[in-house]
Amino acid sequence: MAGITLHALTKVYPGGVRALDALDLEIRDGEFFALLGPSGCGKTTLLRAVAGLETATSGEVRIGDADVTRLPPGRRDVGMVFQDYALFPHMDVADNIAYPQRVRRVPRAERRTAAAGVAAELGLDGLLGRRPGELSGGQQQRVALARAMAARPRVFLLDEPLSNLDARLRLEARTFLKRLQNELGVTTVFVTHDQAEALAMADRMAVMEGGRIRQVGTPGEVFRRPANLFVASFIGSTPMNLLPARAAPGLASAGDGLVYGVRPEYLDYSDEPLDGAFAGRVAVVENLGSTSLVTLELGGDDGAGELVHVVVGEEREPRPGARGWARPRPGRALLYRDGE
Ligand code: ATP
Repeated sequence: MAGITLHALTKVYPGGVRALDALDLEIRDGEFFALLGPSGCGKTTLLRAVAGLETATSGEVRIGDADVTRLPPGRRDVGMVFQDYALFPHMDVADNIAYPQRVRRVPRAERRTAAAGVAAELGLDGLLGRRPGELSGGQQQRVALARAMAARPRVFLLDEPLSNLDARLRLEARTFLKRLQNELGVTTVFVTHDQAEALAMADRMAVMEGGRIRQVGTPGEVFRRPANLFVASFIGSTPMNLLPARAAPGLASAGDGLVYGVRPEYLDYSDEPLDGAFAGRVAVVENLGSTSLVTLELGGDDGAGELVHVVVGEEREPRPGARGWARPRPGRALLYRDGE
C-alpha cells in the first residue's frame, strides 16, 4: 500500500520564498490525483518534495507507512516524469528505459528484458533502437513513462506530462494515461495548470494557491461546489458569475459582504420573463460552437450594470440589444462571504 501523506509540509527557498506553507494533504493508495493551481502556487515544489528532489524545510512526507522526509530520491521508490521528458539524446529507447535500473546495477540482460516488456505495454516495441530525436512528442512521452514504470515504483509523479504535446495528441495522451493508470493501479500524482486536464483525468484533485491547499475533492465536487471564492473563480472554462448577492433574484435585501455565484452552464435562458430570473439586455453573443455564451447586462436598481454570462443552447438565438432572462437551476446557486 502506498498512499502519500504530507503533514505541515513547508518549503522556504534560500531567497525567502515560502513555496509550501504548512501544507497537509492525503493522497490515497491507487489514486490518480491532480495538483492544480496558478503559476507559482507551489505545485512543482510539492511534487519535487515528494520525490526527494527538494528537501523540506519542515514537516513530513510519508509514502505508505514510511517516513521518507529525509530519504534521498533513489530510496523513495518513486518514478518521476518531467515536463521535458529529460531523455538522454545519445541513448536509444531501450537504454533510456533501462537507465534507472542501470543506476541500480541491475545486470544488463535483465534490464533490457524488463525494458522490452514495458515498451511492449506502451506500444513502443518497434522503436527500441531509435534515439529520442527520431521520435514524435507523443512517443517521447511514452518513453519517459516507460522509464518511470520499468522500475515498478510504488508512486508515479508526473510534472505537466502533456504540456509539450499539440492539442490533438494531448487528447489522445490523456486517454492513454488515464487507461494506463487504471490498469496499473499505481498511486499517481500529476501537476497541471490546465483545469480541463485535471477535471478530465483525476480521481481527486487539489487546488493550490500561495503554497497552500484551498480545496481537495473529486473533479465533480470541485466544479459544482467550490469551497471558497478563489476556487470558484479559478475553476471553469467559462468563469463562474460572481455578483453582489443583492443583485441576485430574490436576494435584494441581502446584506453587504455576500457574494452570489452561479455557473453560466447552470442558468436557463429565456427571451420572455421568468420568475426568479436575472433580467437584463443582451450585450454580447459569442459563438462557442454547439452553444453560445451570452452576456446579459442587468437592469433594475439592485443589479444595474452587473454582467451575467449564460451558456445558451443552439436552439435559441439571442440578439444583442434584446431583453433576456436567465434563471438559475435549482440547487446550483452558491453564496460566499466576501474575502473567503
Ligand atoms: P508553475 O505552474 O509556473 O510551474 P508552480 O506552481 O509549479 O508554478 P513552483 O515552481 O513550485 O510553482 O514555485 C513556487 C514558488 O517558489 C514560486 O514563487 C517560485 O518562484 C519559487 N521557486 C521555485 N523554485 C525556486 C528556487 N529553486 N529558488 C527560489 N525560489 C524558487
